[in-house]
Amino acid sequence: MKTSDLFKTKTVLSFEVFPPKPTADESTIYDTLSALKGLRPDAISVTYGAAGGKNCAKTLEIASAVKNRYGIESVAHLPCIGLSKAEVSEILRQLKQEGIENILALRGDLPQDMPSGGDFNHANELVSFIRENADFNIIAACCPEGHPESGSIIEDIQHLKRKVDAGASQLITQLFLDNDYFYKFQERAVLAGIHVPTEAGIMPVTNKKSIERMVQMCGVQLPKKFMKIIEKYEHDPEALRDAGIAYAVDQIVDLITQGVDGIHLYTMNKPYVAQKICESIKNLIKA
Ligand code: FAD
Repeated sequence: MKTSDLFKTKTVLSFEVFPPKPTADESTIYDTLSALKGLRPDAISVTYGAAGGKNCAKTLEIASAVKNRYGIESVAHLPCIGLSKAEVSEILRQLKQEGIENILALRGDLPQDMPSGGDFNHANELVSFIRENADFNIIAACCPEGHPESGSIIEDIQHLKRKVDAGASQLITQLFLDNDYFYKFQERAVLAGIHVPTEAGIMPVTNKKSIERMVQMCGVQLPKKFMKIIEKYEHDPEALRDAGIAYAVDQIVDLITQGVDGIHLYTMNKPYVAQKICESIKNLIKA
């Protein structure tokens, strides 16, 4: 099923998982998926390291398992930077073969050891390429606080509109910790003529390192209320985890109350955290 159809009838709940490191025990991801299945998400997306990273085959394998073994709608991430059109065509062929119907079409973060070459500079080019060459539901990424590389928020929205005009029928946001950024983003998107369903990306922050990494990569603002939590509990992992879960639930309750199209939970492969959040919101997300 194309996940864009889900929004017609409900507030969509999706999860994001990532392939385990090559050195990690492979079975852990399948334990994670089994646990996440019990939470009855509408879809699970699987990340893919940019520039043909080593986990490309793993992304395909896990995305296929999500669909064919666990019976959950699957979304394969596809960062195009460094890839040729021929390589993307081959990935599309493999995704089709596995029955995967949804692609999160991305440029990808630029790794420092990025190989030169590749036929794509920006995600809108990938969206166009997929639309012209295959039949997939195409999802695109967006940043409520603006992408760190963009000159201005307005410029960023104009680039987002190019992705939608090229064929993206659904959006998923970068994580944010202050819902006001999301609401302002929604207003700007509508003014720019963007009218596709948008899932709010929520990352439950359960350790200090992960938030430091995300701030560095995505430039997300840290509200005072959030920083107080980090400062108070940074040396108490269980308390920080519980406070991080409560903070995410608070964000989600507000978003659903305001009529958000969907919630995309960055599960970080932690079913316990996803489970606690789902318990708290199960009566809010209904068909
Ligand atoms: P683009 O849309 O290309 O935008 C990148 C920058 O270029 C922006 O500043 C934009 O304003 C500008 N821009 C866009 N189009 C043009 C244009 N035509 N001309 C000039 N400037 C332009 N990364 C991974 O590597 N693997 C993953 O699995 C992954 N999953 C993600 C999942 C989600 C939900 C999100 C939100 C992000 C994910 N990312 C992933 C990170 C993403 O790849 C980065 O945010 C990346 O820096 C930008 O990707 P994009 O698709 O938004 O790029």
